[in-house]
Amino acid sequence: MKVTEHIAKAAGKTLFSFEIIPPKKGKNIQELYDNIDPLMEFNPPFIDVTTSREEYVYIEKEGLFDRKITRMRPGTLGICAAIKHKYNVDTVPHVLCGGFTKEETEYLLVDCHYLGINNVMALRGDAMKHQSYFEPTNGGHTYAKELVDQILNLNKGRYLHDVMEIDDYCDFCIGVAAYPEKHIESPSLQSDLKRLKEKVDAGADYVVTQMFFDNQKYVEFVNAARNIGIDVPIIPGIKPLAISRHLQLLPQVFKIDLPEDLIKAVESCKNNKEVRQVGIEWCIQQSKELIEFGVPVLHYYSMGKSSNIKAIAKSVF
Ligand code: FAD
Repeated sequence: MKVTEHIAKAAGKTLFSFEIIPPKKGKNIQELYDNIDPLMEFNPPFIDVTTSREEYVYIEKEGLFDRKITRMRPGTLGICAAIKHKYNVDTVPHVLCGGFTKEETEYLLVDCHYLGINNVMALRGDAMKHQSYFEPTNGGHTYAKELVDQILNLNKGRYLHDVMEIDDYCDFCIGVAAYPEKHIESPSLQSDLKRLKEKVDAGADYVVTQMFFDNQKYVEFVNAARNIGIDVPIIPGIKPLAISRHLQLLPQVFKIDLPEDLIKAVESCKNNKEVRQVGIEWCIQQSKELIEFGVPVLHYYSMGKSSNIKAIAKSVF
């Protein structure tokens, strides 16, 4: 089923879902299952699986460094198929512009269709680690909106290099990303919202937000989005803070602010066990308020660790 169909079926009840990151290559999928198992009692209708773009690795050989390109966490689609099969739940692979040519994207989407996976998150991706800004891959897309266009073309039987007379069209439901505190590269929140509207006007079916720790930011963002005519579901993405280092890391990596009360609570902790508890309690409070606000889904960034998400879901769902 499509994400939007799950939302419609829930008829106003807030759904639980979460996002997982594929394990690094060489690791076993069992570790992933061990993290998913405890969350299945909360009946997620869909689970997102992130995609990582390519990166450089440096291999030392006789004192010289050789630069090779690799993917540290391959396998998003395989993992989606495995989870769908094992848990009988819908999965949402993340599809990126960065690191993929349009042809590679087409093959991935064709494979999704064969596997009965009809939800995708269309994302631009970030710059590679050594780059200071995003550069489109040769033969790839520059913005997520172009990816939305490609996916919708496929829904109409328009492949990159041919129009197929077929009787089994793709029918992808498309999610796109949004940033209640603005995307880092955007000159203003208003300008970023206009870009979001372009993705929705192109045909994106729903939106998932970047994490935030202050619900007011989400509420204002949703109001501003509605004011400019964005009328698709806007799913809040949230994450429990778990270690004191997150006070620096989260603003640095995700360009978000942390509320003063949360900072104070974390700073008064004696160790990371206490910080983890503060993070859980903050996230429970956030979740309850967001349900009160009427959000369609609470989407948790699990970052490969499910025990705190389980504690939150237990007191919220
Ligand atoms: P876009 O919508 O293309 O926007 C990127 C920037 O360009 C924005 O500043 C926007 O305002 C601007 N812009 C858009 N269109 C134009 C235009 N025509 N002209 C000028 N400027 C324009 N990253 C991963 O690598 N893997 C993942 O699995 C992943 N999952 C994510 C899931 C969610 C819910 C979110 C919120 C983010 C995720 N990301 C992931 C991170 C995402 O790839 C980055 O934030 C990336 O920098 C932007 O992606 P986007 O799809 O929002 O880009």
